Amino acid sequence: MKLLKFGGTSLANAEKFLCVANIIKQKKDVEQIAVVLSAPANVTNYLVTIIEKKIQNNKILETINLVENIFVELINNILKIQSDFNYQKIETIIKKEFDELKSIIHGVVLLKQCPDSIRAIIISRGEILSVFIMKSILECKNHSVTLIDPIENFLSIGNYLDSTVDIPESKKRINKIKIDKNDIILMPGFIAGNEEKELVVLGRNGSDYSAAVLASCLNAHSCEIWTDVDGVFTADPRIVSNARLLKSISYQEAMELSYFGAKVLHPRTIEPISQFKIPCFIKNTNNVESDGTLICEKNNSEKNFLKGVTHLDNIVMFNVSGTSIKYVGNIIPRIFTTLSRNNIKIILFTQSSSENKIIFCIMNNEMDKVLSSLNKEFQLELKDKLLNSFQITNNLSILSVIGSNIYQKHNVASKIFSSLGEGNINILAVAQGSSEHSISLVIEKKYILKAVQKVHDAFFYNKKIIYAFLIGIGGIGSELLAQILKQKQYLDEKNIIIKFLAIANSKKILILENTTKLCNWKNDFKQSNETFNLKFLNKFIKKNHFSNSVIIDCTSDQYLSEQYVNFLENNFHVVTSNKKANTSKFSYYKNIRHTAYKNNKKFLYETNVGAGLPVIETLQKLFQTGDNLIRFKGILSGSLSFIFGKLEEGVLLSQATREAKELGFTEPNPYDDLSGIDVARKLLILAREVGYEIELKDIKIEPILPIDFKKCNSVNEFFLQLKKLDTFFLNRINKAHNIGNVLRFVGTIENKGECYVKIEEININDPLYKVKNGENALAFYTNYYQPIPLVLRGYGAGNKVTASGVFSDLLRTLS
Ligand code: ADP
Ligand code: ASP
Ligand code: MG
Repeated sequence: MKLLKFGGTSLANAEKFLCVANIIKQKKDVEQIAVVLSAPANVTNYLVTIIEKKIQNNKILETINLVENIFVELINNILKIQSDFNYQKIETIIKKEFDELKSIIHGVVLLKQCPDSIRAIIISRGEILSVFIMKSILECKNHSVTLIDPIENFLSIGNYLDSTVDIPESKKRINKIKIDKNDIILMPGFIAGNEEKELVVLGRNGSDYSAAVLASCLNAHSCEIWTDVDGVFTADPRIVSNARLLKSISYQEAMELSYFGAKVLHPRTIEPISQFKIPCFIKNTNNVESDGTLICEKNNSEKNFLKGVTHLDNIVMFNVSGTSIKYVGNIIPRIFTTLSRNNIKIILFTQSSSENKIIFCIMNNEMDKVLSSLNKEFQLELKDKLLNSFQITNNLSILSVIGSNIYQKHNVASKIFSSLGEGNINILAVAQGSSEHSISLVIEKKYILKAVQKVHDAFFYNKKIIYAFLIGIGGIGSELLAQILKQKQYLDEKNIIIKFLAIANSKKILILENTTKLCNWKNDFKQSNETFNLKFLNKFIKKNHFSNSVIIDCTSDQYLSEQYVNFLENNFHVVTSNKKANTSKFSYYKNIRHTAYKNNKKFLYETNVGAGLPVIETLQKLFQTGDNLIRFKGILSGSLSFIFGKLEEGVLLSQATREAKELGFTEPNPYDDLSGIDVARKLLILAREVGYEIELKDIKIEPILPIDFKKCNSVNEFFLQLKKLDTFFLNRINKAHNIGNVLRFVGTIENKGECYVKIEEININDPLYKVKNGENALAFYTNYYQPIPLVLRGYGAGNKVTASGVFSDLLRTLS
């Protein structure tokens, strides 16, 4: 004998009812089958709202009619597919059920209260009707059916709404029923009967439990719970898209998962099936072929000791405290006794070691009952101020991580804390080993989905995701995208996903939906009509921050650089090739770092000096380990490196500058290179990096161009002016050359932080002597590196090397 249970999600419409009938038929061809059915999807929820609306009765009839229509529509549609379906008979049953329901509700409205016994009758109507409909479908497919009445046969203990079944007694009763071995056994789930043979229900989601009990009573060799997902996942697949299907779990693990919120299975289901060692499969009605999850005594196939991340919503936390709490005898047993007397389940309990503070969590709907019963129990202590009045916090959720002997494993708690910390999610309480197989934490409900995703990712998803927002798609930005696309295979191998949220320039933005392909970004960007401005940007970052979100600034925009603090405050890392922020006022420079630290975010700007050369990181590492800068000398401009190299070969200044421009080494107007300001900015960044609190104006620039040299808008005019300097420079070069020296445009930081930028004569022993052709070189004379300095040398400009530096910063956000 095999037991099959179909949940509401498997009975949501006519097609699904017929699909379930087919599954039953196929299984029945192999062996005898017993079937437990839930109400069609949402029906119980509607019935519950009818009772909850009982006092404001204006909407009640509307809701009853709505539920009645669900059934009428259901049988109409069944008839369309199954033409011999006994429509009239079922329609009469439905009408009778709803007439009765209306008169019961009428009584409830008059009484202005709904006793639990009546509540149980109302909310279980869906199951009763599901069974009548299925019986009729099976009969017109020529199957004979034996109905089991759970009110008569499932003896229940406990209250009307959350009863427990006495299995030995129920087994006796069921064994007395004469069942033909060819019959399909059919029973409504969720329902049982008490000693007085009154209808009771088994708690919300209780049909799973009915199935497990019936399987035990019938000595079934297995039990299949059919639902709308492939089995038990490492998290609710509706909220965590990368949740993983568990092939098999033990009874204990299934119990923990369901107890802490994995709705796929009612927690009580496990008691009977584990007691009678009945293997249980969770299967998907929408994907019949899938193997599902096997729940059995010992799980053999899952290597990972961790099984899942679950959550429970609608939690309320009670805080019991008081300076004299120690003198209140037996406080914990008294709390437990009071609550259990009132049938209240404590979901999580924790106490401080001194017993000064006790925290426990219950479900929201039990809050009033708990408060009044505790106030009564501790009335004297409250009056004498031995206890403070109970502090209640609402709108909470409990997140749990489930795994075998989780407390014996290292790192689990710290991993949970750090992943929640990363998401700026506060933990309000942690359960003190309430179970050996789970760790539970209380957090605010508004963060729960993000928290589940983050904790799940930390344990089960070994992919590292960067959510990137690129601003600036000129040379560097476009090259960055090209390099990321080119590296796809490498990134895949390393389990890194760079997911672009959006790409923008100063005018418009392309939002990348899940379906947009990055490789088509150029075309898609052209087609985008979305205007990009600060207002849009602010709205976007408030809505779109994920666990590892990064804003990449590949512009040279001042205004954008002034938003970095805002970005960091909104949980974005900032990666930038834009030098403006690091060269603005020192107070802002400090504020960015302070904000990044405070928000646990990264601010990375390796390409600000020397493009892709590892300058900043090297310096930081050096100074972290106690080194000090004695002196710095460097060629920090690719264009000036090229121009001075050419001068050395006898090329005139204007000609060398023209060549540099043609090769793309210079800014659009080469005046900006020759003015020395760009080198001064880089020097400022280096000086600040090694600890000097200076401003741009503190850097002395000895310009290449004389003071009367005008910045003209026309590049031609600039070259005409420049020509007039050719002879002067030729002479200067020759003079240096005659004594074996060359000229270089050098940035220097002296010991006390004095910084200057100027043309220097360099001799053959200097590391900067051979640096030309657009190369940069940076010589750091430090305590550790002297008399021979640490020299970094290589191309320090160009889209390729800069983009690769930005790319590498982007990857560093993961560390
Ligand atoms: P049924 O109507 O079949 O009883 P339920 O809605 O009660 O179905 O339970 C199935 C749902 O349980 C799934 O749709 C899924 O969203 C939810 N669920 C929550 N946690 C898990 C989990 N860990 N694994 C699988 N499903 C889960
Ligand atoms: N229909 C009931 C509920 O929704 C029982 C069940 O589906 O398991 O709670
Ligand atoms: Mg269910």
